[in-house]
Amino acid sequence: MGAGSSVPASKSCLRCGRLITWRKKWAKDWENVRYCSRSCRAGSTRADGALDDCVLAFLAAQPRQQVESMTSIDDHVVSAGLTTAASVREKVRRSVRRLSARGLVTMRQGGRVVEGSTTKGDFAVELRREESPDRK
Ligand SMILES: [Zn+2]
Repeated sequence: MGAGSSVPASKSCLRCGRLITWRKKWAKDWENVRYCSRSCRAGSTRADGALDDCVLAFLAAQPRQQVESMTSIDDHVVSAGLTTAASVREKVRRSVRRLSARGLVTMRQGGRVVEGSTTKGDFAVELRREESPDRK
């Protein structure tokens, strides 16, 4: 094989938003790989969609369409009845990663834009503005 020129680009898991890196065993049906793990494949797309919509609507309703901490999103999602307080943290985190992978939100930590797939801890989240569709 040549200098790795034909390895497809990574893509984001539809469920949790983490990056999926191409592997040889997926060579035949990489197009059909959508989830990073068995547990992600077993989740509910409808529930994910409802959660994503809820998070987007919440951000859109904020002054300057952003929050300084994900805990305010957590509180909103729980009060909207979409999940329980016990599991909300990871669910909101997954939702934000999915939305980030779709280019709908930006995540920041200490004022800097961060990559959702690898960043730990809390971060600020903002709705992406229409006028900046490309990344630097
Ligand atoms: Zn996943």
